[in-house]
Amino acid sequence: MRRRDLLAGAAGLAAGLAALSASVRAQEPVPVVASFSILADMVRQVGGERVAVTTLVGPNGDAHVYQPTPADAKALARARLLVLNGLGFEGWMARLQRSSGFKGAVAIASTGATTQARGEDDHGHAHSGSGGRARPAADPHAWQNLANAKVYAANIRDALVAADPEGRAAYAANAARFAAAVDALDAEVRAALAGIPAERRKVITTHDAFGYFGRAYGVTFLAPESVSTEAEASARDVAAIIRQIRADKVPAVFIENVTDPRLLEQIGRETGVRIGGTLFSDALSGPEGPAATYLDMVRHNVRTLVAALAP
Ligand SMILES: [Zn+2]
Repeated sequence: MRRRDLLAGAAGLAAGLAALSASVRAQEPVPVVASFSILADMVRQVGGERVAVTTLVGPNGDAHVYQPTPADAKALARARLLVLNGLGFEGWMARLQRSSGFKGAVAIASTGATTQARGEDDHGHAHSGSGGRARPAADPHAWQNLANAKVYAANIRDALVAADPEGRAAYAANAARFAAAVDALDAEVRAALAGIPAERRKVITTHDAFGYFGRAYGVTFLAPESVSTEAEASARDVAAIIRQIRADKVPAVFIENVTDPRLLEQIGRETGVRIGGTLFSDALSGPEGPAATYLDMVRHNVRTLVAALAP
């Protein structure tokens, strides 16, 4: 082989390597930050292998009272997309966004979801935390209604397509698969709850996180704490709940994975009502736990409720 051919071959090889490295770069996962574990799971379900998700408030964490860390600011600075719940859930986020120098896109997952007011029960009236003449703010826990989870996933899909257009087909297919799984679970939930008589569909939890679930599936949830865990329940709130448990013959009280169990344990002792188990309200469990994904969380919560409420 002549020297000129050798050089041409080497140049061709170098060009090939450059093209290869560009295509490897293009396949690097899109860095996405999700504010809390439930959203992070939805981003993973829709994003699949095309995304690398960093979760700010991790498993069993309480996003209402979260304090961001320097590592959170670093992750956010590198991210191309930030996915939030919105509805005032992440009160600490605006400051973190500013301090991190984040330049990516922001997706509010709850946009277009069916919302209800704070403390609004299944009869459509507000029973706490909505005093004053102003229209009460929305309850942020919209993910507890399975129908809303499909809205969340569609918003996440659209945001991922905007951040990474080459992944459009993959994101659309993943979001459709997730929506189908949500529909199947919705049917499962309705069937499981069908056997619980109306007078036993009353549940106490620590904070008011299940208003959406309650309205979607016809279960009344009462809580000594409001829709946020920021303010602790007063002695008066606790006394009111205890009176209501006795008057309404509430069958069980439930601990939440994100709140201190002692208040509910005390209420259980004072009323003689048993603890029905742990419900996952604002966060998933760790990967080995019973609520490692959003769908597993809903399934676990319903199984726990049915086991405690069945006559
Ligand atoms: Zn909450």
